Amino acid sequence: MPYEPRQPHELHPLLQKILCIAAHPDDIEFSMAGTVAQWARQGREVVFALVTSGNAGANEPNTNLSELAERRERECWDSGKILGAKDIAFLRYRDGVVEPTLDLRRDLTRLIRKHKPDVVVCGDPMQRWYGNDYLNHPDHRAVASAALDAVFPSAETRYIFPELLHEGCEPHKVRELFINFGSPPDTWVDIGETIDLKCAALKAHISQIGDGQWIDKQMREWAKQEGDGTGIEYSESYRRMIFWEPKEAEAMDQKTHETGEVPTLSHEGEAAHVR
Ligand SMILES: [Zn+2]
Repeated sequence: MPYEPRQPHELHPLLQKILCIAAHPDDIEFSMAGTVAQWARQGREVVFALVTSGNAGANEPNTNLSELAERRERECWDSGKILGAKDIAFLRYRDGVVEPTLDLRRDLTRLIRKHKPDVVVCGDPMQRWYGNDYLNHPDHRAVASAALDAVFPSAETRYIFPELLHEGCEPHKVRELFINFGSPPDTWVDIGETIDLKCAALKAHISQIGDGQWIDKQMREWAKQEGDGTGIEYSESYRRMIFWEPKEAEAMDQKTHETGEVPTLSHEGEAAHVR
């Protein structure tokens, strides 16, 4: 196995580009923000993709939904700055009624082919509930399902969505997929150094969180529970899918030491060297 369960996970140095896919403006912050903040601090490029702009995120009568969406997108940018995101793509689907359609899969495939991430992070489409008090939001399941299908086979297969070729979106192979809260988890990221950033990013979502006084305590509790039994105080957990061979990368590293060649990853086939 190329990873050690119950050890804090360190992302391979060759995996430099990350795409996080989520349904709503605060989903990344609640789930994977500690991880992506750590990766951004290590100098990796992190991009967020949000399928809706959260315009159902209010229950007061007569809410102006387009104003709410604009406000929530601004909150995303504030949060993204805190977490070190390089860019945020908004697909602007209708909040609350997202389905895992071919249109959504195509849109996510386009994003993957455009941003060319080494790693995609998303949710688990099979989770209908967590514990005894939370039914997973149908948008979360729909987006996660479409994201998995976009990662494989759509992004890397030339003649799935051939119309994307006309837009210049050539096939792209994702190397690793991190399924947040994936069941069962096999990968834990130590977020001890970034949990403060995670809390600060969540508090940027003022329209949803209010004054956010409960955030710091609650996030620490959840991060403790997530790593329960791992020996990691605060963590985020994942089911990690691996579509490449890190041993090959290690061989590349060795060759780099010997020849001075700069390693890179070929995303249309196996890893390769460029000069
Ligand atoms: Zn959500």
